[in-house]
Amino acid sequence: MLSAKLQAWFRQNCRDLPWRNTRNPYLIWVSEIILQQTRVAQGLDYYNRFVERFPDVLSLAESDETEVLKYWQGLGYYSRARNMHAAARQIKMQHAGAFPQQYAQVLALKGVGDYTAAAICSFAYNQPYAVLDGNVFRVLARLFGIETPINAPRAKREFSELAQNLLDKTHSAVHNQAIMEFGALQCTPQSPDCGICPLQEICNAFCNKKVNMLPVKLKKATAKERFFNYFFVKNGDFTYLKKRESNDIWKNLYEFPLIETATASYINDLLVSENFREIFADSGKIDIAGLPFVQKHVLTHRIIHAVFYIINIEGEPRGDFTKILQRDLHEYPVSRLVELFLERC
Ligand code: SF4
Repeated sequence: MLSAKLQAWFRQNCRDLPWRNTRNPYLIWVSEIILQQTRVAQGLDYYNRFVERFPDVLSLAESDETEVLKYWQGLGYYSRARNMHAAARQIKMQHAGAFPQQYAQVLALKGVGDYTAAAICSFAYNQPYAVLDGNVFRVLARLFGIETPINAPRAKREFSELAQNLLDKTHSAVHNQAIMEFGALQCTPQSPDCGICPLQEICNAFCNKKVNMLPVKLKKATAKERFFNYFFVKNGDFTYLKKRESNDIWKNLYEFPLIETATASYINDLLVSENFREIFADSGKIDIAGLPFVQKHVLTHRIIHAVFYIINIEGEPRGDFTKILQRDLHEYPVSRLVELFLERC
């Protein structure tokens, strides 16, 4: 009965989104990965551009990772793009380019977890796997009055079992989309529309006046603060970029020469620091041009305090930098933080 009500609500209220009008697992996969950490309004544009350039598994598998990252630029959580690219190559190698159809095979793809595998297998193949994302957690917590914190280790099993029991196994695709859409539009985090909710009478939270208390969440650890000092180096028409290669944020994106410090630093201290000398000892006369660009950039687990300096040099910097024409900067994938600087300078 619950599923029937959700599906009836969905038929009347669902948004018309491009990935809803397809059973193509590749397109569903792309949309699900984009929407993992991104609002629909922002993701839609990225989705359309991405599938226009990479319309199928093979076009993605045969592309260069730098180009894939470029199409992802500004979306954040770049491991999603790197993993998709690797997974496309995995499909090409292991499944001759055909998107796998078994849940275990889909789950084995790089970057695909329980939620995404269930979404792909149910939306594309109508297989009986219940999805569990943030929207579903919230809807279930309220409907059943569950007080287990949704980010507690035991929550996933408890909510997964419930979601699977509620699934309409003959209409998995519609059921799953219905409960997610219901969470996104009706049973929203801050202002659920309980007054016109078709589930009001059976909603534990509504009947017990606990809507604003559910779902319960454990407090997050405080974000780590980091201090980035970037140098946009001009040498005539040239500048210098470095690819971030360590397993840190923004892996495989490009950035300007960087000195990370433990606290905020003055330029005079940076200029005489060991790190600065290591990069610029052979660079000849160094001029600092104009005022620095200061930007606080908030990520999920980190707060980056960034300062960008524009400097003119006559020699070369030391280190593993790529020397490029400044006018070619737009060809390289960069973080949203670097993009913000480029938009302003
Ligand atoms: S009554 Fe309110 S809290 Fe309960 S399911 Fe409906 S919208 Fe959500």
